[in-house]
Amino acid sequence: MSVAVRFAPSPTGLLHVGNVRLALVNWLFARKTGGTFLLRLDDTDEERSKPEYAEGIERDLIWLGLTWDRFARESDRYGRYDEEAAALKASGRLYPCYETPEELNLKRASLVSQGRPPIYDRAALRLSDADRARLESEGRKPHWRFKLEHTPVEWTDLVRGPVHFEGSALSDPVLIREDGRPLYTLTSVVDDADLAITHVIRGEDHVANTAVQIQIFQAVGGAVPVFAHLPLLTDATGQGLSKRLGSLSVASLREEEGIEPMALASLLAKLGTSDAIEPRLTLDELVAEFDIAKVSRATPKFDPEELLRLNARILHLLPFERVAGELAALGLDDADAAFWEAVRPNLSRVAEARDWWAVTHAPVAPVADDPAFLAEAAALLPEEPWDLSTWGTWTGAVKARTGRKGKDLFLPLRRALTGRDHGPELKNLLPLIGRTRAQKRLAGETA
Ligand code: GLU
Repeated sequence: MSVAVRFAPSPTGLLHVGNVRLALVNWLFARKTGGTFLLRLDDTDEERSKPEYAEGIERDLIWLGLTWDRFARESDRYGRYDEEAAALKASGRLYPCYETPEELNLKRASLVSQGRPPIYDRAALRLSDADRARLESEGRKPHWRFKLEHTPVEWTDLVRGPVHFEGSALSDPVLIREDGRPLYTLTSVVDDADLAITHVIRGEDHVANTAVQIQIFQAVGGAVPVFAHLPLLTDATGQGLSKRLGSLSVASLREEEGIEPMALASLLAKLGTSDAIEPRLTLDELVAEFDIAKVSRATPKFDPEELLRLNARILHLLPFERVAGELAALGLDDADAAFWEAVRPNLSRVAEARDWWAVTHAPVAPVADDPAFLAEAAALLPEEPWDLSTWGTWTGAVKARTGRKGKDLFLPLRRALTGRDHGPELKNLLPLIGRTRAQKRLAGETA
């Protein structure tokens, strides 16, 4: 049977590093095994689901290169959930409950105060037909709970190893709301069964759901998939990421932080695994290195500084074709491979190329605090055409004429030519600056 995995975000917000990591791991798993990757939008929460979030999710996945082979939307599948709910009601596995949220809170609080786990007491199962008729005549509408078998639930998790739950230690989950709408615990199982998902790879916040959902798979006659629960990312201090979701959204990393897709992918594919984090320029390399067995149970820490350092290392390796679109979007229409190769060693973000573009293509106020030396140097500027050897030839001649060397030779030239103390190698910049500008800047003129 061929592998089928899914990424199932709820379109109730932007994707952040935590959930996009799960998308990536699912995608890598599918590509590694020759399986299929399904994008499923869990949009049955109609109040909170928004089309713009759905679009944002698709945009983020495409930006990362995580294209999907199949697509499903839960709101298209209500008919199937109704069918399964009807069958579960008929077999007695779904039972109507009438408690209000306040009543449930009271029950929960009372159990907790006695030091007992807040497990639903199944009071609704003891209602008679007459009790139910009375409650309904009072205007109460039932929500529906799944009756768990009080037997052990076990699975071998690809990350956690053998996992064991006692059915009796779990609360019967609500699968159908009072307004008749199905909840995620049911819809996810019906979808996974109908769409023949073989492996469910998700966050460890779903471990207890899995225990419940395995029983639901069995009740609806679906094949139980293999499960893998990944530890959730925390920030560098070990706190959950939830408080910083805005700044850690994929959209803000892309649009505000200038992070390259392969920087994010290189980091997220390896965080929390036994592999070292190294820059990778293609998803294919990550597929080749991927093995779910490398995912450790330790909590992985996400550090934005580490991401930025990796972004820089990736930029230093990226060929011009891979950034041409981004450079054009910055307005650097004529940027070419020579420009890119000259400046990329100095960049942490592509947008910083604008500064160096200004140095090679716009007037610069030179720092010319040693005019006599600069005049001697200017007189020795070779005729064009200039290439990567021009800088060496020229500074060799300046050195021979003036006797200067090292910093005394190079720093005044750099300050005059670029207006700055630091920057890309002048061997690469000089041909881009050109003779006319170079001559003027050496003479102290803004050019
Ligand atoms: N929509 C669920 C979530 O975002 C999906 C969980 C799952 O993978 O089953 O948490």
